[in-house]
Amino acid sequence: MTRILVIEDEDVLRMALVDGLRAGGYEVLEAADGERGLELALREAPEVILLDLMLPRRDGFSVLRALREDRLESAVLILSARGEEWDRVQGFEYGADDYLVKPFSMRELELRVRALLRRTEGRDRSDFSGKQRIGESTVDFAAYTLTRGREQHGLSKKELDLLRFLMANEGRTLDRTTLLDSVWGRDEDPTPRTVDMHVLKLRKKIEPDPAQPVHILTVHGVGYRFSRHGGTTGDTAPSLGSQTS
Ligand code: CA
Repeated sequence: MTRILVIEDEDVLRMALVDGLRAGGYEVLEAADGERGLELALREAPEVILLDLMLPRRDGFSVLRALREDRLESAVLILSARGEEWDRVQGFEYGADDYLVKPFSMRELELRVRALLRRTEGRDRSDFSGKQRIGESTVDFAAYTLTRGREQHGLSKKELDLLRFLMANEGRTLDRTTLLDSVWGRDEDPTPRTVDMHVLKLRKKIEPDPAQPVHILTVHGVGYRFSRHGGTTGDTAPSLGSQTS
């Protein structure tokens, strides 16, 4: 399920946004001040962040800057009040993806959110470099770490390369030869067993229960298939693994 974080201090507006988005089928997190919003964003790495500018404890621009400094790749939609000192250029320089001027309708907001999601989904995923969410975990491609709750694991370069390739091809079944060619290349001398060993290591870190994987799924007799939000079995129809539409 797509996760959206709403950072807005006006209670009535925030509640309306939260309710509207939940009704639209999104998983919604909320924060009423900038500090809490930043903390939630960094911990949960939601796909989209709705960010008010005038916020207690930390203003929207400062939140945005901190998010990008921390390499969070969530799409950010600025919510700015009419008459507010809102500098579009500065906003985009800080890494905002879009903005909406208050007041706006729920319908307008949902259209913008959908457009943002389409854009991020269409992005070339093979160059992941910041933080990405996988189920309950956050992987940081720059820091070579994977965090779930209070647990943090280091990831080797090969583990990250393999994960990046799996994520870039989410929903597709990848055979071992394809994985070997794409992740290991010709310089090294890996065997199909090398792939399995690395999958095993990754599963110990990203799977809630490595014995019952939901992210790196085994497709028997073929290879593996990745699901960011958690699929059930690798042997079902491909469309069940990722519900991103
Ligand atoms: Ca405000």
